[in-house]
Amino acid sequence: MPNKSDQQRQRRHAANPQPARLPTTGPGNRPIDLTGRTFGNWTVTRYDRTRSATAGRAYWHCLCACGVKRSVRGGHLIAGRSTMCCNSCPGH
Ligand SMILES: [Zn+2]
Repeated sequence: MPNKSDQQRQRRHAANPQPARLPTTGPGNRPIDLTGRTFGNWTVTRYDRTRSATAGRAYWHCLCACGVKRSVRGGHLIAGRSTMCCNSCPGH
């Protein structure tokens, strides 16, 4: 005889899965603050307001572990599509 309360708990848990990807924008279409977060070799230093306005999506100034600075798309950071300045990055 299965325990009914356990079954209900499992169903409720399955109905609320963790999102596969975090959205790149939060409430009010403002970018989620990634400042100080690390994605692979990248450390986010600040929001790239100029490029974000030009591109129409969130870009962030990032510092690679090897010292290279670059503006990287927030969606690529969160999705793990950009983790370092280049494939031959010495920090890799
Ligand atoms: Zn690098």
